Amino acid sequence: MHDIDHNAPEGFPTQKEQVLNDFRHFSSQRLCNYSKSRNFDTGYPHANVSKLSPYLRRRLVSENEVLQIALEKNSISSLEKFIQEIFWRTYWRGWLELRPDVYEDYENGYDGSHLPDKTGIKCFDHWTEELIETGYLHNHARMWYASIWIFTLGKSWLSGANFFKDHLVDWCPASNTLGWRWVAGLQTRGKIYVAKADNIKLFTNEKFFPKGELNENPFFNEDLWKTYERASDISYVKPNLNACEDTGVIINKNDLTLNQYLSKEQIILKGCIFHDPEYQSSKSDFVNKFDSDLIENLRSDLPSFEFCQTKKAVLKWAKSEKLKYLIFPYETVGNKYFMTSDFINELRNQNIEAIFYMRDWDKYAFPFANKGFFPFKKNISDLLFKNGIS
Ligand SMILES: Cc1cc2nc3c(=O)[nH]c(=O)nc-3n(C[C@H](O)[C@H](O)[C@H](O)COP(=O)(O)OP(=O)(O)OC[C@H]3O[C@@H](n4cnc5c(N)ncnc54)[C@H](O)[C@@H]3O)c2cc1C
Repeated sequence: MHDIDHNAPEGFPTQKEQVLNDFRHFSSQRLCNYSKSRNFDTGYPHANVSKLSPYLRRRLVSENEVLQIALEKNSISSLEKFIQEIFWRTYWRGWLELRPDVYEDYENGYDGSHLPDKTGIKCFDHWTEELIETGYLHNHARMWYASIWIFTLGKSWLSGANFFKDHLVDWCPASNTLGWRWVAGLQTRGKIYVAKADNIKLFTNEKFFPKGELNENPFFNEDLWKTYERASDISYVKPNLNACEDTGVIINKNDLTLNQYLSKEQIILKGCIFHDPEYQSSKSDFVNKFDSDLIENLRSDLPSFEFCQTKKAVLKWAKSEKLKYLIFPYETVGNKYFMTSDFINELRNQNIEAIFYMRDWDKYAFPFANKGFFPFKKNISDLLFKNGIS
């Protein structure tokens, strides 16, 4: 089924060094053409885009790291589009953080996740298969797919978002939920994204041309519209870690390198790698294998770190290490796991204070995600400067 491009890495490696090496290659060979070529879905293995999303989502690599590497071989002005894309995800995360009700409604409206039947629309069936087999779809294919799902097949955006949630190796609560809402016309009232046969033909290099098969004149269902109030600003106060003794750090799929990030604070940390294989049990085999391979690699890279799979095991470890403070990656909307009053109180009962740590990248950017992406992006050069990228 796949068109093989021998210049692009296959699949998704699970060693950080390999990921960075692949990106260095991409940065020196492909990034200069990114703005012109990024919209083309050239098929697996998608040599024209970075395929960094599974790593950025888990922060195996950070936005700062990626941009520093990109700047080794490219000027900042030539990277404008790529930098904006990196900030799109930050923007979606900040936007959702300010409107948690949007995610709550998505979760409460859960109407199942199922594999779509064969539809006879060749491109759509191909993308279904590609997503299941490879855990990934090109951004343009995600837009066409969501549009066909909603407007040609008449399915709910919620069920589509759930299908992606189980199968995307880069699943991010903000980018996925808001990506589907954007296509459905729910981000800007009634502004729907319509997949058109001519556009698919052009941007798949004529591989697909579903002429006459798509509903190219759909209408927006006003009944789905709901206005959400923006929550008050994000009240995150950066903890003073220098004052913390007997401190532990948890790394998990919200931030797999928080220990490295905190090492610049020069405090001695006891570490724990956390992975609950039972959490979100509907994930595809592909995604589960990717996650467990990542964790296995981390365990061999960090032999002094404890490995825990349940909250109970974390409590036991923290107690046995006589920790006073336990740092977790900050849990944004859609990622809550440890950040619950029950668990925080359980720690407190053992005289351990939980600290949920937000990286500067998010802390600086989230407050600007209060309106649309256009006003947000005006802050990008200031944000780069604050993050030491220039
Ligand atoms: C319906 C739908 C669902 C989506 N679901 C997700 C999701 O669950 N997780 C996810 O990370 N992205 C999601 N996206 C956004 C986008 O499709 C992916 O981030 C991108 O395809 C990842 O491939 P890449 O790393 O090669 O991107 P590149 O083009 O190389 O971009 C570099 C990085 O910028 C960010 N980025 C690029 N495009 C977007 C975008 N449109 N929105 C937000 N961030 C972007 C990603 O972090 C990406 O890794 C979704 C888009 C749509 C339309």
